[in-house]
Amino acid sequence: VSVFKNRSVLDRSYIPDNLPHRENQLAMLAELFKPIITSPGTVSITALLIGDVGVGKTVTSYVFGRELTKIAERKGIKLKYVHVNCHSARTLYGVVQSIAASFSLTIPFRGLSPREMMLIILNHMKKNDMYALIALDEFGYFVRVAGNDAIYFLVRLYDEYPEAEKRLHYIFITRNLDVLGILDPATESYITKHIIKFEPYKASELFDILKQRRDLAFYENTVDDGILKFIADVEGYDRGGKGNARAAIEILLRAGIAADYEGSQKVFLEHVRKAIGEINEELLVEISDNLQFLQLHELIVLKAIVRRLKKSSEAYVKMGDVEEEYRYLCQLYNIKPRKHTQVYEYVRTLKNMGIINSRTSSKGLRGRTTLISLPIPLEPFEKRIDELIDKRVL
Ligand code: ADP
Repeated sequence: VSVFKNRSVLDRSYIPDNLPHRENQLAMLAELFKPIITSPGTVSITALLIGDVGVGKTVTSYVFGRELTKIAERKGIKLKYVHVNCHSARTLYGVVQSIAASFSLTIPFRGLSPREMMLIILNHMKKNDMYALIALDEFGYFVRVAGNDAIYFLVRLYDEYPEAEKRLHYIFITRNLDVLGILDPATESYITKHIIKFEPYKASELFDILKQRRDLAFYENTVDDGILKFIADVEGYDRGGKGNARAAIEILLRAGIAADYEGSQKVFLEHVRKAIGEINEELLVEISDNLQFLQLHELIVLKAIVRRLKKSSEAYVKMGDVEEEYRYLCQLYNIKPRKHTQVYEYVRTLKNMGIINSRTSSKGLRGRTTLISLPIPLEPFEKRIDELIDKRVL
């Protein structure tokens, strides 16, 4: 038998009914977006959610979207909540396509520009009297790769059509404000007009979050409060942790799995210790989170980096060596390797997503080269990469 009665409650995709300790942020969002309900079409509203990884930005946006959609429905307003992960959508084209998909628009979009697609979406919304609240998650990444014009196009479209009804509203989600500096000042101030901050969780807050999950995921009396307190103290911001709820939930999940593995009827501290050892750095959790969005060849390049780093006594590996390993791995998997420029592009993507660190070497005998490093334990990381590669090649 298992200690779990419903393990899926601990999945990343699970959205709880309510969010302990995010009542303030939810109330601020409700206040800000009220005009969607009270005077639809008059004004386009934006909010910017800021905070470190695992502090509940994404889940708060989802819960708010769900609630607002319900309220709108009761008032006879057709509102759609669209959550776009920019790590997955990547380009302006991808983002617009995600929005179109959420309206189940089946027009053949091939060959259309994002602008043309957007006009089709807006027309569709107008014809059906619909509104959309669009959450752009990992917005910082999108700003970096898509650039100012794309952002301008998405969020300030209305400036070109002042008489048009305002049907699009945005929630931008990002870790910090750094990258927004590359936007033109007008667009930047538009995006930063309403900032909602998410502080890292304190131990007592994590305890409440863990308790909610425990009650839903585990059979009664299999996980004592003392177990939750132990995890909360490890992760709690006021105890020197990162205040990351995702890491805390992941430890709880892995501790349960460890208990099951041993056939134990209860989760003990020793299982938690084992789980903490497994995820070790919060960084591993954070970085692994991004792996799911990588394409096969990007995963293989990443594996090549890990393998070369494992063999090396240096902190960095050279681009050329990584490419060599990449070609070797492609041979193993029996797939055709991509060209140099493309491999270089993959490395850039990995860097932009914050998965690898890279820098240019100082000028040596053979000119400059790109040096790549990874800030996390290699062994468990490679295992995760392998799992994802297997899923894609088998
Ligand atoms: P972020 O977007 O800030 O990186 P997430 O919203 O993805 O963080 O939250 C990380 C994990 O922790 C998710 O599984 C989420 O459901 C959970 N979580 C975060 N905050 C809360 C909360 N206040 N109550 C319940 N679960 C939470």
